[in-house]
Amino acid sequence: MPAQRSIAEINERLARGDAVVMTAMEFKQEVRNGRRFRLGDVDVVTTATRAVMSGTSAILGVPLDSGDPARRIWVNGLPCLVAEQGDGQVDVVVQGTAESRDFPNGYGGGHLLRDLVSGKTADVEWESADGRTHHRTTSLKELPFARIYSFRNAYRNYSAFTNARNRRSYREHPNTIFANRALPWMKALTVSGSGELNPLENDPEGRVIHPGTRVLVNKAEGVVIGSGTRASRHGPNLSLAADLRGMDPEFMGGFKTRHGMEITNSVAIPIPVLDESVLERLSQVLDENVEMDIADLADRVPFTRATYADVWDGAALWVDFDGDRCIVCSFQCPAEYFCPMGAISWREKRIDQTLCVACGACTANCPGAPSLGGGMRRRGGSANLRSAIARCRSPTVFRTGDASSNSQPTSRKN
Ligand code: SF4
Ligand code: SF4
Repeated sequence: MPAQRSIAEINERLARGDAVVMTAMEFKQEVRNGRRFRLGDVDVVTTATRAVMSGTSAILGVPLDSGDPARRIWVNGLPCLVAEQGDGQVDVVVQGTAESRDFPNGYGGGHLLRDLVSGKTADVEWESADGRTHHRTTSLKELPFARIYSFRNAYRNYSAFTNARNRRSYREHPNTIFANRALPWMKALTVSGSGELNPLENDPEGRVIHPGTRVLVNKAEGVVIGSGTRASRHGPNLSLAADLRGMDPEFMGGFKTRHGMEITNSVAIPIPVLDESVLERLSQVLDENVEMDIADLADRVPFTRATYADVWDGAALWVDFDGDRCIVCSFQCPAEYFCPMGAISWREKRIDQTLCVACGACTANCPGAPSLGGGMRRRGGSANLRSAIARCRSPTVFRTGDASSNSQPTSRKN
């Protein structure tokens, strides 16, 4: 086997149907089982991450019924930026973190994009220059242009957060995007990041991920534009573009935090195994080797480190709801109230698994424990905080989706 393989060669094997394609989860498991991969054993390893990705916006071309230009416009109550208009169409920018004036702290840009992809109609309201208000409904089918442009997605590694210093500023204003409720001193940790499965973690030097690389965004084909805003050597991220058409609603959505609305995306990138160094990197990137900074919620300054194995090893990858175990602890079910995805219906005693990202907020906030994680350890379980401030184990809530996004079919092209 030559020491170097080309993308064309791997693509040929893919076209012939005899390429070996493994998910990162399968590949890492085999490495843990003791397998030493050699060049030629595997052609492509698919990597993925799914998480809250605030740096997401979309451009929608919205047809208007009236010839009057729009001065201001709202879609499902979300204020949109008017970018360009003419020929009976207005091009608007929707920010993923925008919040609907009609459903404050309940509906945001992520919800709108998921609704459109799900085939739902959206209400458009616009104000023309003469101050008149116009209304119409629209849907993704009607939009001539609907594309996500992200300016900061798929971070390689993101800090975990806890209330370590219990600062007065945090106690008085505990509104943060990193948690769905105020966190008591050293009693909870919120985590984001897919560790060993993350695309950039497996290709930190940009050997195979660079401008022009084809990717999947929410299961639709997209492309890497380049590095995103605030990208650094320690914390690289990607700017991506992908058409909303073809996306799968289950891979995206709105997310509620104590600070306001957020948006979730899934990004999958195949890594072609071109040479020994790509293979070596894939084999070395295991959760137990991937460090995770832990920072204080108030100042965001890391004060200690753990590894992704501390939080992912044995973590439950799904959460079920057993209504028989409910002790009716409150007139408003806290598990339902704190669910960032709106996935729990306490009345119906069920979790909508198409919405649930297995974050663990319900298991951490439900004293009756009807919300159970499948897997070796419950979400909302605990992680080691090896800290100069305290040595303790702390309940964990995931702001990210779960590793199961990587087990979904991913592109065989490159
Ligand atoms: S939080 Fe748990 S125990 Fe309390 S009402 Fe909700 S499901 Fe029941
Ligand atoms: S794990 Fe619980 S809180 Fe998190 S999304 Fe699923 S149902 Fe909601």
